[in-house]
Amino acid sequence: MISPATFDFHFVSDSISYCSVNHGSACKQQLNGAPNFFKVVDCKARQVVVARPGYQYLALSYVWGSTTGTSDRSLLDLDNCPKVINDSIDVTLKLMFQYLWVDRYCIDQLDEADKHHQIRQMDLIYANAKATIIAAAGDGPGYGLPGVNGTLRKQQPHLRIHGHLLASTLPHPSWSVNNSKWASRGWTYQENILSKRRIIFTDDQVLFECNSMHYAESQILPLDVLHTEDKTMFKWYVAQGAFEWKTPGSDPEDIIHFLADFSKRELSYPADAINAMQGIFQMFSKTEYPVYHIEGVPILSATSGTFVPEDSFIKGLSWCHSIPGKRRPEFPSWSWAGWTGVLERSFMWADEYPVDTVLCLETENGIIEEFPR
Ligand SMILES: [Zn+2]
Repeated sequence: MISPATFDFHFVSDSISYCSVNHGSACKQQLNGAPNFFKVVDCKARQVVVARPGYQYLALSYVWGSTTGTSDRSLLDLDNCPKVINDSIDVTLKLMFQYLWVDRYCIDQLDEADKHHQIRQMDLIYANAKATIIAAAGDGPGYGLPGVNGTLRKQQPHLRIHGHLLASTLPHPSWSVNNSKWASRGWTYQENILSKRRIIFTDDQVLFECNSMHYAESQILPLDVLHTEDKTMFKWYVAQGAFEWKTPGSDPEDIIHFLADFSKRELSYPADAINAMQGIFQMFSKTEYPVYHIEGVPILSATSGTFVPEDSFIKGLSWCHSIPGKRRPEFPSWSWAGWTGVLERSFMWADEYPVDTVLCLETENGIIEEFPR
């Protein structure tokens, strides 16, 4: 039975152990691609320190709420931090880790150069975390993690009949996670996608989802039976967990699905429309078949098979919305980033354009050049 007051710590540590022992590169940290200069919260000393090579850390993904605090240094006092951060520090220590990466504390919001640097390496920061704590409950940072320090989970529906206990297995992870405020926000989109292991705190229970399996606190599953023989991943026919798209870059054409999903999210600052996808774009640019972008419009590399670069760019310009969006003047009108609104997923598979189409780009100097080949 789920305890409303206390999450099952052994469920989380056992899930991380199973993943560490059995799963392959999809779940492993990238030792050759560690982030370059970043800070972490030292949870024992409760202070922000520069991460040293080999530091094992967890990351946090949460809803900032209305107090973004970009110019208020008092909000950076760890002794008075929002409950979600305090709870995450406690969970980190309980799981026998010392360091936690929290954007609010580990990126200097007032230092534009540091902010730019950290945003550019967000893919490495999340991919190298041992796991990401996801706060998928409540409307803001004051709510905390359900099952930690007094934030209660819902009572698990149950019934006792003739000495037998019947208990609900609780809502499907996809429902409880994707209906949360956390799942509606722009920045949390890539924080989840870029992570390899996720410890998800919901109002019902804690969920574990790595890139090879998913598990719920309310269940006792025969993990070995659900895995392939080599235990590296769940069998293909096991129902999926909370997230459909988890490994950006494995197929270059997947960029469309990531853009379409991201376009459903809300951003507090329209100027973040591309920054909040920067980590995912970085991952797509580092694969065997790299995908690049101009102002968010994807360009698939010539080696990707289906597309040639100018072909993919023209189709990328053909994005459309089912409902008209509002203008974001921070970005060009020809980019999806220049407008709010949910992208139609089909646009990259639009009909062929005429073969004599010549694609030109205007540079910042106003010079018109043919699309680089
Ligand atoms: Zn795993």
